[in-house]
Amino acid sequence: MFKTTLTTSMIVLGLTTSSTVMAEQKLVVISSFSILGDLVSEIGQQHVSVTNLVKVNGDAHVFSPTPQDAKAISSAQLVVMNGLQFEGWMPRLLEAANYQGVQVIAANGIDELKTKQGGSKHEHHDHDHEQHSDEHEHHDHAHHDHGDIDPHAWHSIKNVKIYVNNITQGLIKVDPENRLDYQQNATDYIQELEQLAVKLGAQLATIPEAQRKVITPHDAFGYFARDFNVTFLAPQGTSTGSEASAADVARLIKQIRHDNVNAVFMENITDNRLIEQISRETDAKIGGKLYSDALSSTDQSAATYLAMMQYNVDTIVDALK
Ligand SMILES: [Zn+2]
Repeated sequence: MFKTTLTTSMIVLGLTTSSTVMAEQKLVVISSFSILGDLVSEIGQQHVSVTNLVKVNGDAHVFSPTPQDAKAISSAQLVVMNGLQFEGWMPRLLEAANYQGVQVIAANGIDELKTKQGGSKHEHHDHDHEQHSDEHEHHDHAHHDHGDIDPHAWHSIKNVKIYVNNITQGLIKVDPENRLDYQQNATDYIQELEQLAVKLGAQLATIPEAQRKVITPHDAFGYFARDFNVTFLAPQGTSTGSEASAADVARLIKQIRHDNVNAVFMENITDNRLIEQISRETDAKIGGKLYSDALSSTDQSAATYLAMMQYNVDTIVDALK
């Protein structure tokens, strides 16, 4: 996946960093959305300058890149994206920017989860996720569910350890001089992830499994559900680009009543009117807001990935206990 043209930028970097008097030039990294941006910052620390294309509280499913985004990418040394077709707009953007540098597909190698609904009607054969940007023209599906792999893999801490490794490899590839720093930061961060996973598991274990049923606007928490044995139901599919039908909503309301689901949640990135309607039509109360596909701004409670996971679990446990 790493292009050979990278060699040029590596040489240039090598020259700048080897001159002792010059202040270190930060590596310019573009990440597709804020959750990835935080991971890059954790590993890159003082060596990187990270810009997110989709900003905090933004919705990557329906993002429209601007010419400024293409400009930012054309001067980047590393581009980090989720993959799993989360950023359907990315291949065209990279093309528009004529980006030749290193790309990291952070979700490469994760334990994949199929989407619940089966999604779109069209059949489509397996393809190599690393290559699809170059060869296929089928990435224009921001407005329907793709229906194979759920892209929201960051809601599994286990998967994020793989994200961290992929990002670390990418940073080392572009900036081998600081390899030891990146490796150390990754080791430290993975330790934090592991400790958090244990803590969150213990918090959720205080809620009986039969009670762990949650409604969110769109189906973003499949990986979280798998890791923590929580059932998530949603009127919308895995993309916010597709509207929930009246029949979907009616079916969900029936299920909420039947299964005695007590809490529905809003999301930071979505229109929450549907959730408010569902709450009104059932006895389920609104349990707060969950952070699904983006971090919050820095003055709020989910400004980092670790904080986001903690906040989501606190919110769910508070609403269900
Ligand atoms: Zn989503």
